[in-house]
Amino acid sequence: MEHVPGPPPATQLWLGLARLGQAVRMEAWRNAGPHNLSPLQADIVALLADSARPLRQGEIVAALASTPPTVSDAVKVLRRKELVESARDAGDARVLLVRLSPAGEAEAGRLTVTSPALSEAVAALSADDFAAMLRGATTLMRQLQERRAIPVSRMCLTCRFFVPEAHPGSTRPHHCRFVDASFGDAELRVTCPDHETV
Ligand code: SF4
Repeated sequence: MEHVPGPPPATQLWLGLARLGQAVRMEAWRNAGPHNLSPLQADIVALLADSARPLRQGEIVAALASTPPTVSDAVKVLRRKELVESARDAGDARVLLVRLSPAGEAEAGRLTVTSPALSEAVAALSADDFAAMLRGATTLMRQLQERRAIPVSRMCLTCRFFVPEAHPGSTRPHHCRFVDASFGDAELRVTCPDHETV
């Protein structure tokens, strides 16, 4: 018995990634909550909750690898839902700073609970598979960023503090110069508040 010829391995990989993206998005829609948050609105609320200071819209665009019009629309909707507040930067009136309102803080707390389907599926991965997937995902993201297929995001591979393979042969081969510590593939960050572009 022989296989019927199917899509080549690279297509199989993209199909797999598309299915995973679909699953993550579907869980986000299911978790829309009392404010009926879209996945992007939920990402913005979670991002602002992780930040120690109000963020510029441009910083939100970069952190979420989105586009200015998309983020601007989502922030307007969040303002209407009274989950975020915005104010002009005291040092530059052209800049709008965005932060969570008290209702937004409460919503951020609800969003920290990950969907059981997603958390159980990730927990079922071996430590090696988890690290390999994170390394593969960040490498693919970087390749797509270099080809301008997706926006550059605030991840280790684009960070001036990242020193890859600084400790060859170690289980924690990379080094973060921001915290001056070694780390392994399983701790690579796709988004990081301390990121600074190379
Ligand atoms: S500061 Fe953040 S993004 Fe930069 S290398 Fe360290 S962990 Fe990675």
